[in-house]
Amino acid sequence: MNKWRTPSDNCLICHGEQEVVIGIRERGPWERQHNYSRVLFCAACDVGELRSFDYDDFVVFGEEDDVMVWSAVLVTADIDRLRSAFACPAPLDHGCECAQHVLAHETSVRLGMKRLPEYGPDRHSPAGRTTASVRVTDGLAEFC
Ligand SMILES: [Zn+2]
Ligand SMILES: [Zn+2]
Repeated sequence: MNKWRTPSDNCLICHGEQEVVIGIRERGPWERQHNYSRVLFCAACDVGELRSFDYDDFVVFGEEDDVMVWSAVLVTADIDRLRSAFACPAPLDHGCECAQHVLAHETSVRLGMKRLPEYGPDRHSPAGRTTASVRVTDGLAEFC
C-alpha cells in the first residue's frame, strides 16, 4: 500500500490526454498524500470534465480506498463559459485562493460528483456520471 500513486487526467471516453482548463485546488503531491480538483477538456471527444482526485495512504486498510476519484461531465458550452468568465488571471494556478478559486472549489464540492471505480475491470468507467453546469453569479463562475 506504500507506493506512489500517479494520477491520470486522461479522457474517460477515448483515454487520450486532456487539456487542463482550470486548476481549482491542489494539495501535494506528497509521498503519501495528494489531492486536487480541476476542469479538463478533451478536444477529440469535444466534452469537458470536472475531476477530483484524492490519494491518502494514511487511511486504515480495508476501511476506505486509498485512491478515490470523482467526475462530472461538463458540456463544451460550459467549458467555453468557464474560459471567458473565470474571474482570475491565473486559472491554472491550483494554489490560488482568490474569491473565484474559492467559489469554484466550494461549489464543486457541493455537487456531490459521481465516484468512479478505482479497482477492477470497470476502473474509471464514465458510465452513469452526473452532469454539472456552470453559471455566472455576481461576476464569478460557479458550478451547479
Ligand atoms: Zn476523449
Ligand atoms: Zn484565483
